[in-house]
Amino acid sequence: MRELFDKALGAYLGFAIGDALGATVEFMRPREIALHHGVHREIVGGGWLKLARGQVTDDTTMSLALGAALLQGGSPALCGLVRGDDSLVRSIGHAYVQWFKAKPVDCGNTCRRGIQRLLHDGTLEGPFNPGDGGNGALMRNLPSVLATLGNDAAFARLSIAQAHLTHHHPLCDAATLGLGRLLGLLLAGADRAAARLWAAQWVHDNPAFGFTPYRGRATAYVVDTVQTVLHYWTLHDDFEAAVVATVNQGDDADTTGALVGMLAGARCGAARLPQRWLHRLQPDTVQAITNQTSGLLALAQGLPLANPV
Ligand code: MG
Ligand code: MG
Repeated sequence: MRELFDKALGAYLGFAIGDALGATVEFMRPREIALHHGVHREIVGGGWLKLARGQVTDDTTMSLALGAALLQGGSPALCGLVRGDDSLVRSIGHAYVQWFKAKPVDCGNTCRRGIQRLLHDGTLEGPFNPGDGGNGALMRNLPSVLATLGNDAAFARLSIAQAHLTHHHPLCDAATLGLGRLLGLLLAGADRAAARLWAAQWVHDNPAFGFTPYRGRATAYVVDTVQTVLHYWTLHDDFEAAVVATVNQGDDADTTGALVGMLAGARCGAARLPQRWLHRLQPDTVQAITNQTSGLLALAQGLPLANPV
């Protein structure tokens, strides 16, 4: 259990590190980054959002909003969701609305549109929309993985429900499920070779996300995001090397950085994350993530074991 907690905390803190590091160079081209930063490798804030040093963006704060809603509902709400009760989804939607009303530092277009729909008519999903192919639902799904660890049916139901609050697109669904299951596999202790093999099979089954040869596109389109994440995560064994290489690809660097940090952090665990980065994160962020990690893992223990992946 202690080892699982270290891996889960490594994933969540690794996610926040990637977000804070990448945000400085979000929307920049690799050549621009090289010109301004050489190799960008320190958490310094700034960027187009003019962040304070160590500040995270919507990727982490929306994840925390989801995590808080899951914890508030507790095991009964999660078990209710598995039985088809949508009250937990409604609570998550409410958490996203509250997050939005608190004027977050940024909010993606599709997330904004979905939250405004929710505010307007209270529906828990919009119709399929070919314009919903952004990475906003994928980026915030980490708490769903922790809260349902060991129960794939619950994981899938929760992931799709939270995704559809703002995004309704089959590639978003596939990406959200795929990276979530890969994270679950790493938390269950899969070694690097086994996780890579799983990823290769997943790409075989979902060829839109094929990342070899890597096309060098790291936009917020979910296909570009997943290709970038899998490319750099498989290329580098070491947490720091993987995250640095990812964010220096620029574009949606906070989100690709966060997702690579999540996968690489799950493998190395919190104890082996680079201390200088960890100390740069804002203390209330680290505290909230630490509290959520133990609470969400406890939620998963309250679920019946079923269909482990
Ligand atoms: Mg962001
Ligand atoms: Mg971003």
